[in-house]
Amino acid sequence: MIDFTLSKSQGAARDYAHQVAMEEMRPISLECDRTEKIPDSFFWNMQRRFWAGAAGQARMQAQEEEEKQDNVLSILSQEEMAWGDAALSTAIPGPGLAAPPILSQGTPEQQMKFLGPYMDGQLHWGALALTEPGIGSDVAGMSTTAVLEGDEWVLNGHKHYITNGARADLVVTFATIDKNLGREGIRPFVVPQGTPGFVVGRIEEKMGLRASQTAELIFENCRIPKDHLLSGRESSKKAGFKAAMGTLDATRPMVGALAVGIARAAYETTCQWVQQELPKGFPSHKRREIEQELEETRQELEMARLLVWRAAWMADRRIPNSKEASICKAYAGGLVMKVTAAGVRITAPGENSESRQLLQKWFRDAKVFDIFEGTAQIQRLVIARRLFPEVDIP
Ligand SMILES: Cc1cc2nc3c(=O)[nH]c(=O)nc-3n(C[C@H](O)[C@H](O)[C@H](O)COP(=O)(O)OP(=O)(O)OC[C@H]3O[C@@H](n4cnc5c(N)ncnc54)[C@H](O)[C@@H]3O)c2cc1C
Repeated sequence: MIDFTLSKSQGAARDYAHQVAMEEMRPISLECDRTEKIPDSFFWNMQRRFWAGAAGQARMQAQEEEEKQDNVLSILSQEEMAWGDAALSTAIPGPGLAAPPILSQGTPEQQMKFLGPYMDGQLHWGALALTEPGIGSDVAGMSTTAVLEGDEWVLNGHKHYITNGARADLVVTFATIDKNLGREGIRPFVVPQGTPGFVVGRIEEKMGLRASQTAELIFENCRIPKDHLLSGRESSKKAGFKAAMGTLDATRPMVGALAVGIARAAYETTCQWVQQELPKGFPSHKRREIEQELEETRQELEMARLLVWRAAWMADRRIPNSKEASICKAYAGGLVMKVTAAGVRITAPGENSESRQLLQKWFRDAKVFDIFEGTAQIQRLVIARRLFPEVDIP
C-alpha cells in the first residue's frame, strides 16, 4: 500500500523548515549572495532552531512513530530551505555531508566520538572531501594517499570544491591505501580541523551558490590516529568505495530536494509576477502561452518531488536506491535549470524588482545542481548500468 500523506512529524518538519526559510533566509538572501558572506547571527539562529527547537521535537516525534524516516524528514526540510535560499541551507551548522559516511561506516564508538560534539550547543560544521583536481566523476582514480605508519595514518594529497571545507571541525576525507587496487583501495578517514599538515587553501568565487563556502584542502604529511579510519562496519576490501557511493545514494535525493525547492521558488515567483507585475498592454495571447508553460512546469515539479520522495523513502528502508537516487537527482537538476531560465525570460520585460533579482540569483544557483553529487552525464551512466546490467558500460 502506498501512502502519500505526510505523518505528523513529517508535516511538522516541513512546516518548521518553511517558517525558518521565510523568517531567516529570504530576508538576507540577496545580500549574502552579493557579498558572499553570511552573518554570524544566521549561524546562531540556525543552531538554536535546528538543534534545540521544533525540528528536534519533530525528530523525537518521528522516533515515537517507530518508523525510520531520517531521509524523508531531511528531504522535506531541504526543499523548504532551498525555497528560502539554497546557499544558506548548505551553511547550517551541523555535521552535514560528513554524517552519512560516519553513520554508515563508523563503529558506535566512532559515531559517538565524531558526532557527539555536534550536540554541545556550539557552532560546528562537518565536510566531505572526495573531489580532487581532475578527479571528480572518476572517484576510482583518486590520488590522495593514506599510509599506515605505526599507530598513525599519514595523508598526502589535494582536494578541491569542498563545501564548508574551511569552517568544518572535521572532514571525512577519502584516500587510497594502494593506488594499484583502484576503487578497492579507497577508504574514508576523519581528519579534525587543526591537525598539523591539514591546510585550507583557496576559497572559490562562484557564479551561483555564492554564499556557500567552497574550499580547497591540502594534506601534507597529515598524521591522524589509526582509529580515524572509518571501516568498523565492514572489513571487506570494497567497504571504502561502498562508503563513498553509499554516501551519494543518501545525498543525491537531498540535492534533488534542494533543486525542487529552488525550482518551486522560481515557479511561484514567476506566477506571482505574471499576476501582479505584467506590464500594462501585454498581449493576451502571449499571456496565455506563458500560463500554459507554467501549468506544465507545475506538473514537472510534482514529478520531480515524487521521484525525490521515492529515493529517500527507499533509503530509510535500506532498499538499494542507486538508480532511483540518480534518476531524481538528474531529473530535478535538469528541471531547476529549465524553470529558473524560464522565470528570467518571462519576467524580462519588467522593472528591476526584488522578484526579478531573486529569479536571476536562482538561475545562477541552479547550474551547480547539474554538477555536484555527480554530473548529469554521470547520473545517466549510473542509471544505464542498473537498467542494463548485462551490457558492459564503462
Ligand atoms: C559548489 C560546489 C560544491 C561542491 N561540494 C563538494 C563537496 O562538498 N565534496 C566533494 O567531494 N565534492 C564537491 N564538489 C565537487 C563536485 O562533486 C564535482 O565537481 C563533480 O563531481 C564533477 O567533478 P569534476 O568537477 O572533477 O568534473 P569531471 O569529472 O572532470 O567532469 C568534467 C565533464 O566530463 C564529464 N564526464 C566525466 N566522466 C564522464 C564519463 N565517464 N562519461 C561521460 N561524461 C563524463 C562530466 O559529466 C563533466 O561534464 C562540489 C562542486 C561544486 C561546484
